[in-house]
Amino acid sequence: MKVNLVSDTITKPTAEMLKVMMDAKVGDDMYREDETTIALEQKIAGMFGMEAAMFFPSGTMANQTGIKLHTQPGDQLICDKDAHIFHYESGGVSFNSGVSCRMVDGDRGTIKAHQVAEVINDPNSFHSPMTTLVSLENTANKGGGTCYDFQEILKIREVCDSHNLKLHLDGARLWNALVAKGESTTQYGEVFDSISVCLSKGLGCPVGSVLLGTEEFINRAYRVRKILGGAMRQIGYLTSAGIYALDNNIARLSEDHRRAKELEATLASLPFVKSITPVETNIIIFDLEEGYSNTAFIEALKGYNIFISPMGAKLRMVTHLDYTQEMHEYVLDCLAKLELVTQ
Ligand SMILES: *Cc1c(COP(=O)(O)O)cnc(C)c1O
Repeated sequence: MKVNLVSDTITKPTAEMLKVMMDAKVGDDMYREDETTIALEQKIAGMFGMEAAMFFPSGTMANQTGIKLHTQPGDQLICDKDAHIFHYESGGVSFNSGVSCRMVDGDRGTIKAHQVAEVINDPNSFHSPMTTLVSLENTANKGGGTCYDFQEILKIREVCDSHNLKLHLDGARLWNALVAKGESTTQYGEVFDSISVCLSKGLGCPVGSVLLGTEEFINRAYRVRKILGGAMRQIGYLTSAGIYALDNNIARLSEDHRRAKELEATLASLPFVKSITPVETNIIIFDLEEGYSNTAFIEALKGYNIFISPMGAKLRMVTHLDYTQEMHEYVLDCLAKLELVTQ
């Protein structure tokens, strides 16, 4: 048995999803003639109670488009120090938008309203960059799949309103947060100016993210997506998978969360595991006691055909749609008997 816990992006479409994709009605989306894509965009906008939505080939492009539309070159945005838009989008915030990131020292990737308020530059001082945007991440990836407290999001919205700032959500794994916290899409739609969500992580699609916002915002997004090279043709073959995933793969995320909690418990019982970031969704981030090497741990698991990856100086496991109960029991067994020697 081979088990891949490197990321929830590694899932492959099931036979049922592939059938839906093969049967999709398609047209040229650059002429807005792909009815499946229009259906996905309308469906997801309706779910969030937002005016409009746009399909993107990646979450990075959806975030970058949102940031570009909310800012002017020279502006500054506020985000957590671990934010994906800062660490893992290859400098796109500065490359595409000419914008700098003012990082906040949050708690496992989530920030507080008072921290936002403290780093907003005085708009009357021409010395400092104009603060125009706040970007939150839910769940926070590098923070260990952490969920925001929704009350804090409401407070951040108030700060944004009183300082004339836009509020963007990098919701690549928002689905996990909704399921873990029993929250609704509409409550998020009411609060954010724009939201990006990923279809190719927990929901199991091969490709795709969606950006949501007002109709005016999404109309402007067409130009930015085109500039970034992301305008596409017969994408109903991909967006049909998105419709299928929204209908079938959201509620089951609770299984991924349960398995992640069980992995956390087993890891916690191992003498060479030092600490684990409290598991809230499908991501487990942990580190090893002094003297044990991450590489040796990864290699030892590889010996059992189990694959995990480092995240910075720590280790990460991610549960997902293709991680079955059978694989899970196998991994728990292997972990329990894992032997690791100090270097
Ligand atoms: C995966 C991810 C993205 C987008 O990634 P792509 O690989 O470009 O689709 C954005 N934000 C977060 C928090 C992510 O985990």
